[in-house]
Formats: sequence, structure tokens, C-alpha cells
Amino acid sequence: MSESGRNRIDRDFETEEERRARLRRKKRRKEQKRKRIMLLTTLLVILGVVLVVLILIPKKKPEGGQKANTGISETSASQSGETSSAASSSSAAAPKSDMATLLSDADRLTKMYDYDKAIEMLQSSPYAAETEVKAMISTYEADKTTLKDYDHSKITHIFFHSLIVDSDIAFKSSNSANYNSVMTTIPEFNEILKQMYEKGYVLVTMHDICTFDENGTLHKNPIMLPPGKIPFVMSQDDVCYYEYMEGQGFATRFVIGEDGRPTLEYKDKNGNVTTGDYDLVPILDHFVDEHPDFSYRGSKAILAFTGYNGILGYRTDETYDPNSPNYNPEKYRNENIENDKAMVKKITQALKEDGYEFASHSWGHIRTGDCTVERLKTDTDKWERNVEPLLPDPCPILIYPFGSDIGNWRPYAEDNEKFKVLYDAGFRYYLTVDSAQYWLQYNSNYMRGGRRNVDGYRLYQDLTGEQNRLGDILDVKKVFDTVRPTPVEQ
Ligand SMILES: [Zn+2]
Repeated sequence: MSESGRNRIDRDFETEEERRARLRRKKRRKEQKRKRIMLLTTLLVILGVVLVVLILIPKKKPEGGQKANTGISETSASQSGETSSAASSSSAAAPKSDMATLLSDADRLTKMYDYDKAIEMLQSSPYAAETEVKAMISTYEADKTTLKDYDHSKITHIFFHSLIVDSDIAFKSSNSANYNSVMTTIPEFNEILKQMYEKGYVLVTMHDICTFDENGTLHKNPIMLPPGKIPFVMSQDDVCYYEYMEGQGFATRFVIGEDGRPTLEYKDKNGNVTTGDYDLVPILDHFVDEHPDFSYRGSKAILAFTGYNGILGYRTDETYDPNSPNYNPEKYRNENIENDKAMVKKITQALKEDGYEFASHSWGHIRTGDCTVERLKTDTDKWERNVEPLLPDPCPILIYPFGSDIGNWRPYAEDNEKFKVLYDAGFRYYLTVDSAQYWLQYNSNYMRGGRRNVDGYRLYQDLTGEQNRLGDILDVKKVFDTVRPTPVEQ
């Protein structure tokens, strides 16, 4: 105002030079004004965009911001223990991610065929009334009707021993012939998983197949799968990392990884210790992470333990314990045994939560079929004293060492004394070795099953065409690891 007034006054007296200067000033002011307008416009546009974003984002996910005011976040804060602290901390993002997490958890459950649990989870959630949630529930209800109970007489069972990490070392070691015959390499195992997954196989465990009520009566549990999916059982024997295997190309022991999941330790030929996918468990876990539909309701495999060298790579047996009356002076003194036992308990608990079941493989890897009843009894006592307490629950599964069954294919006779010893010790699932595609026997108060070895010997027999025992599940040509010395002898 004052500026323009002064200009008006001065103009009458200005010289030509002053006039030019005035025009220059005017031009400059005009330019400055233009710049100010542009800046203001830009600021207004930015402000507008910010406002639009603030308004639109909560609308994309109705459980957040705005809708939270309609009662959902209050419900979430007051009813859901898991989310209450996050929801009540006034952050709109918390309940939003809660519902996203809920939906993705439910989705994963249905991928693992657990529609009931997924529906239950959604219905009992604070978001049950949400349109999106209701729609998912109807979808799951519809999908569930397409599932069918699988024939319990047609469930195949394959088993492995410890996987070979370094085949260079294993196949040049003093036990090379044995490893070549009964072990499987990691590349072979990876290919087996891939092929079985592609064929539609789905992991189940013994408890998915049948359970026993309080009277001890067997009940088959429905295995509800979509058409085209085939249940099977996987087990791994001798998950002990025996003393004789040290330095021969196998994992050394189980540990809990940084992510809280069970994994393995490996010591390479230079003495470097690393942690990772060095055996069946973490490899299978990562495969199921990627392909949840390979696991029925989270089930993974059965791990079988003897006792004489401890389990999972820890020397937990009483024969290593200098404070035990059963200490064996020929063995090394494990002064750290109590810590080792505590660690093993932690690991077996983590394995259980991860979908694994456990089995006895006898304490001394004995020939259960040939030994005396007395020997079987002593051995079973040792297993119950040294191994069972390290597991989260009493163990009802028995895997016969060498597939040495205590009877023929007929149900165990009434007067079978060995059966009485084992039954009294709590075993209800009796598993042996049998290369038939299916061998399952459901009796009134126990079940029996055969298991097929997928090891060097069996793979080689199929590869050479001498036998065809694996053709229904595998293309052996793509599985057999060419680093194996051949022929593979039994
Ligand atoms: Zn064994």
C-alpha cells in the first residue's frame, strides 16, 4: 500500500533514468508476486493431496481409523487379549494389521486343510461382523464341502536316516559302504520333497490317522483332503548323531536357531561350526513354509530315538553321567549333562510345536524280534528312564530297529509276551520296515504299519531296474545322487 502510493507520487518528477529504474522494479515486483502465487498454489496442492490420502487410506481397510470409531477397535481392545495393548495405544495401524494378520492366518490354516479351525478363528474374532470376514467364512464353508475322508488303508509311509551333508567325506569315510546303503543325501531329499509335492502328497502323522480313547480303544480320525491330495507319513530313524558319525559328513547336533525354531549345527572339515539346513527337520520346515499345502494341519514327520548315545546330538544318557550309578567309565564324562538335558527338552518342545511326533527306536538299537523278553524289558526300561523324560509327552510310537517285528503279519497273539511288555510301556503304534506300497493294520487297541526305506540301496535297486519299489511315489532317475559310489551294496 505505502509502496504503490509512493510510486504514484514520484512518477511526476522522475527522470528518464528513474523511469527505467521504476519499470525494472515494477517488473521485478511482478515477477516476485508471480513466484509467491506459484509457491502458494504448490503448497495448496500438496495440502490437498495430503488431505485426500488421509481420508482415503482408512477407507481401503475398513477395520482401521474411521471404522475403528464404530466400535471395532473398542471390541478388539476389550475382548482380544492378543491385540488389546496395541489397539488401545491409539494407533489406527494396530487394529488394521490385526485383521490383516487374522485373515492371513486363517488363509494359511485352510491351505493346510484346517477349515474348521480357520472358520472358528474368524467367528470368534473381534472382526466377525466385518463384510470381508463374513465373505471369507462363507468361502471356507463352501470349500470345506469339497473335502473327502481319505481311505485309511491306503496311506504310505517312507523313512530316512540322517541326511548326508558332505558326501565327499561320508563316501570316503570308514563307514562309507553303510552310509551309501542306508543314508540319503540332501540333494536327493530335496528332489524327493519336490516330486512328492508335485504329485499331491500331503504329510500326516500317526495321530492324524488314529487315536485312542480313555478305554484304550482305537478310533480312526477322518483325514479330510480335497480330491487329488494323497496323505503319507514320513519318519526319520536314529536322530541321535551317534558318536561314530562325528566328522563323517553329518550334522553334529540340534540347536534352537535365531528365529526360535529347531535347526542343526554342522562342523565342516576345517572345524568351522555353522548352523542351518543340515538335516531333514529344517529342510522340511522351510519346504512347508513355502508350500503349506504339503502339510495336513501342520503335521511334519516322526523322529525316532535310541538312547545309548543320547538324543539329538547331546550325550544325555545315564552312561555319560559321572553322578549316575549306571555311569560307564569307558564313555566320556559329560559334566554338562544336566544343561544338555534341559536344552534337549527345549528342543523337543519346539519340535512338537513345529508339527513333529516322536518314537522310541529302543534304547540299544536291539533286534526286538530276536531278543529275549527279559532283554526287551530291560531295554524298554532304560529308554523310559533316559529318553522319554526328555520328550514333552509320554511316547506311544515304537519303531522297530532293523524292522525287527515281534510277530508275523497277523495281529499279535494274546500270549505274545513281548507285546505285553511294550503295550504296558504305553506303546500303541508299532511301526516296522516293509517295502509294500501300503501296510496298515488297525486293531481294537493298537495299530501297526509298514515303512518304506528311501535310501541309497533302495534308490539304486530301482535305478538299475532290478526292482520297482518306489515308482508310485518317485522318478528315481531324477533322485539318485550321482556322487554315490556304485554299485550300492546292501
Ligand atoms: Zn535304526
